[in-house]
Amino acid sequence: MLEKAPAKINLGLDTSLRYPDGSPKWDMVMTSVDLADYVSVQTVPNSNKVSVATDSGFLPNDQRNLAYQAIHILKSRFHQTDGVTVKIKKQIPVAAGLGGGSADAAAVLRALNQMWSLGLTLEELAKISLTIDSDVPYCIYNQTARVTGHGEHIELLNSFPHYPIVIAKPKLSVSTPVILRQIDYDKLDHLEIDQLVDGLNQQNERKMFASMGNVLEPITTEVYPEIKALKQKMLDLGADVAQMSGTGPSVFAICRKLSRAKRLQNSLRGFCHEVYLVRAL
Ligand code: ATP
Repeated sequence: MLEKAPAKINLGLDTSLRYPDGSPKWDMVMTSVDLADYVSVQTVPNSNKVSVATDSGFLPNDQRNLAYQAIHILKSRFHQTDGVTVKIKKQIPVAAGLGGGSADAAAVLRALNQMWSLGLTLEELAKISLTIDSDVPYCIYNQTARVTGHGEHIELLNSFPHYPIVIAKPKLSVSTPVILRQIDYDKLDHLEIDQLVDGLNQQNERKMFASMGNVLEPITTEVYPEIKALKQKMLDLGADVAQMSGTGPSVFAICRKLSRAKRLQNSLRGFCHEVYLVRAL
């Protein structure tokens, strides 16, 4: 079975407190875009062997791969003795703030749910998937949604309009745990996520654009000023909104006009390692 695993961007990302286990209590709005990995899943009756392979030289193929963890969760929970072979064609940049690993894990869960006729609803799959990573429950759905708690509460919203979106990933690696440890809750400049949700549900562009934001942006850009420079460049080149996704380093620009997005993409190519022109799903 071949399953598409789309990247996500954070239209809004906020956190109000840290849980006793140290993880942030999230309040996020996410949407998925048409930049995707392709995950092929094959089952081998009664072989019990699990293997994961990617076409990326940088990614682990063992239990550190989120797709591998996804297989094990379903195998152990449902006492499946089939072997599973997963091959991932990576298109989503790795460790970019675009949720690539989570998307792959969610794709494996959706595929095995069907191949093994487990009959789990998306809600049940999302619940099971939370132990893999906080973004996996969202990636089970891949629809515009408000995501809260540890990442397990998913409230589906009206789709984000089909604006052209330019995503640029600077050539640097940001460690998500390192950024999350640096959050100083007394200093966060919180967002109006309710306004963003209203804007989406009313398809009110002004409201949507005005209430987007990412409270982690000042933290990551303090360490990597080049991300701030990239965002400014996007705005100077005519982006209607420019914002960091997740913990970075990717920055996305929303343009009302395709011609402007194309111009932006071309101009950024000389400045940035990887640039993609996509649309919200
Ligand atoms: P996060 O915010 O959860 O750290 P991200 O969106 O910034 O994720 P990912 O591409 O998911 O970035 O990679 C994060 C880490 O997950 C990397 O260190 C990578 O080695 C690991 N990883 C495990 N499995 C995968 C996978 N299938 N694809 C990409 N990365 C994976």
